[in-house]
Amino acid sequence: MSKTRILIIYTGGTIGMAPQDPAIPGSPLVPKSLEELKAYAPILSQDNRYGIEYGEESFEKPVDSSCLEPGDWRRMAAIVERNYDAYDGFVVLHGTDTMSYTSSALAFMFDNLDKPVVITGSQLPISEPRTDAPWNLNNAIHVAAYKAVGLPRIPEVVIVFADKIVRGCRATKVSTTDLTGFTSPNSPPLGTIGEHIKIRTDLLKPRPSAGQKFRVDHDLSESVTNISLYPGIKASHIKSILGLGGVDAIVMRTFGAGNAPNNETFLEVIDDVINKGKKTILNITQCNQGMVEMGLYEASSGLLERGVISGMDMTPEAALTKLMWTLGTKLGEQVNTQMQVNQRGEQSESLFDLRYGECGNRLEPQEVFKKLLSPDRRFDVEQFSKGVVRLSNLGFVGCEPGESIKLRVFMNMPNAKFDLPDDHPNCVAERIVAWNRDPLNLSMICDDGKMRSCIGTNDIVLTVVVREGVRFWFKGLYLALFAKAPY
Ligand code: ASP
Repeated sequence: MSKTRILIIYTGGTIGMAPQDPAIPGSPLVPKSLEELKAYAPILSQDNRYGIEYGEESFEKPVDSSCLEPGDWRRMAAIVERNYDAYDGFVVLHGTDTMSYTSSALAFMFDNLDKPVVITGSQLPISEPRTDAPWNLNNAIHVAAYKAVGLPRIPEVVIVFADKIVRGCRATKVSTTDLTGFTSPNSPPLGTIGEHIKIRTDLLKPRPSAGQKFRVDHDLSESVTNISLYPGIKASHIKSILGLGGVDAIVMRTFGAGNAPNNETFLEVIDDVINKGKKTILNITQCNQGMVEMGLYEASSGLLERGVISGMDMTPEAALTKLMWTLGTKLGEQVNTQMQVNQRGEQSESLFDLRYGECGNRLEPQEVFKKLLSPDRRFDVEQFSKGVVRLSNLGFVGCEPGESIKLRVFMNMPNAKFDLPDDHPNCVAERIVAWNRDPLNLSMICDDGKMRSCIGTNDIVLTVVVREGVRFWFKGLYLALFAKAPY
């Protein structure tokens, strides 16, 4: 049987650090060479008991990971690319501070990855008598050298740290001191490490098929930044940050399920940035866990209407690096669609966001609205989980103030009439509203069973109708289709 070959890629980080001045134990930690690190890692000797063959590559000058830049992710990616065929797995030794940025970036940069790329480091230097480094290193090697030790293959970028194996683009550093420094807050770990290493094969990304060759996207846009909202944040501050030259996209860390101040000054700035400045704003939550659901609260509807897109339940690290990758590659031509669709297992659901636009206005209200749009080709009805119809700035003409008006939304039935039976299978949403002359914003969760049966083909026609004699207008009609991300 051929030997398992593992490439160790050393970039720096605490794992390989020692006090700057050996004579002064408390002097600042600085990265040492791979040679020095190896002196403390018997598993890396070529006569190890697993018969693993090692190759090694090291950054010429190993660094604290806080000093890494996208150029360094490209260097790591290039090392994997150059050595891809010659090795069965890769172990990247890395500082913990920005490990989850690197693991996210590499996850996006690698297409059709079929071998484990395992990133690890430690909270304490390997040279210290009390250290977590050998444990992490040994486990990382086990996961990368899966064949030699009888583990399943993980064809993904992962972080192996302490007691867990987490998907690279789901990982986040949660403690500066705990030995269990990483979690994947919105998805279960891909494996656990205890007396045994247990891998959840049901959660793994499927292996690429025979024709899908491994390739690397080296182009990352660096015109991406992020901001975090706080109570009282000034629109003028946001304007100067978001208006910065050289910035094409912004990750905006909002409150709760994607909420932000809904005053006009704030929303105007957002509108200018997106619609005049042609920039992308991606909404992710400041909470450690959970999903952005724009439109759930009035305080996020304004963002949705101005064209902010959803980062779903991505970590900040995944959100930023996914934007860099999307804008750096040809996917950037459709940044809004691409960012909301799961690409590498970085989010639990994909969002296919159809914006049907406006219908008439106060002076020219309409009797009916119908329009056809098609979701991105990756929308898979099998994975469909929820549909939400939203209408913004809705108004009526031809009814009494205070009158209750029923509004019905039909799917894929262009000539739908208001008086079709109540349980008509194509009527996916309806709502009775009291009209008091103030424009309304409506959010309707679609009937799940009806949606599934009439969504059918890829074209989705929505028809909106109200009772005879009443006419209506609205500023925006949105259909949000959520589909489970298959891995
Ligand atoms: N500052 C170090 C680094 O990220 C911290 C660590 O490795 O734990 O490189």
